[in-house]
Amino acid sequence: GIPVVLHLIFFRSVASPPSSNFLLLGPSTAGKTAFTTLLEAKSSSASKKSHLTHTSQTSTLATVTLPPTVPTASNRFRSANDPSLKEASRNPIKYRLWDTPGHGKLRASQGISQLQSMSHSKDAKSKLRGVMFMVDTAALVDEATLRDTATYLHDVLLILQKRALSKGKSSDIAAAEVPVLVAANKQDLFTALPPGSVREKLEAEIDRIRKSKTKGLLDASADTGAEEEDEVLGNDDAQGQFSFKLLEEEVGIKVDVAGGAVKGDQQEEFGSGVRRWEEWVGMCL
Ligand code: GDP
Repeated sequence: GIPVVLHLIFFRSVASPPSSNFLLLGPSTAGKTAFTTLLEAKSSSASKKSHLTHTSQTSTLATVTLPPTVPTASNRFRSANDPSLKEASRNPIKYRLWDTPGHGKLRASQGISQLQSMSHSKDAKSKLRGVMFMVDTAALVDEATLRDTATYLHDVLLILQKRALSKGKSSDIAAAEVPVLVAANKQDLFTALPPGSVREKLEAEIDRIRKSKTKGLLDASADTGAEEEDEVLGNDDAQGQFSFKLLEEEVGIKVDVAGGAVKGDQQEEFGSGVRRWEEWVGMCL
């Protein structure tokens, strides 16, 4: 009845909004720490309220702010002279960025376990809004680095796919899929691959990983009779070529690739610094 509705309205306006959590993943030396540090610095000059908290050995939490000029999903039609812009610069939108430190090979396993727990969290406060997967676009020409990076991204996407496909069965998982941004960093380096070819290279490499995995599973199931179709990324069509578009169409997980550079932020010639990534964050909010 009415009292319940009133109670809800009251509670909604008083309770602090749920935090927007983003997880920052990617191979080491991609620039994750540099990115977190940059956002920290930008946020503290904007609000003087940001803080870097070491919550555990495995992850670092930074509460940062979105520049007021970056549109969010809810205000994307706002014009430049909208009075709400002024309000936004007085009261900037905050979000939480989880960096996953560690050394060498540990990074991947720590990042993966952080992703596992955050993407399955029932707590609204730790609800995961998006995954940023950072890559060093100057390092991807190296075959071993490309394979390593694509393997990590493949594993991240597979976890999100399993989450998406199991949703029908378990009601405790939040409704929305977790979108992924491949942050193609270090566009300031003249050896850097442009975002379009970063996408192509990662898709082609993930395709290779997926096909060899499918073959391994087929061989294994010939022995054991086990069915493990959901182990294959992009669902059942492992015959065709893998693409991020296919993943979106078949599983509903959206993967964007956007170029940028932590070094030289705000500089137009370097893929506009980190602006495109902040715009992606805004669209997830
Ligand atoms: P992490 O291991 O992913 O946290 O990577 P770091 O943040 O430690 O960065 C690794 C190295 O890359 C450091 O020397 C950074 O200064 C450098 N780096 C980060 N971002 C950029 C960038 O946009 N351009 C260039 N040229 N170097 C960068």
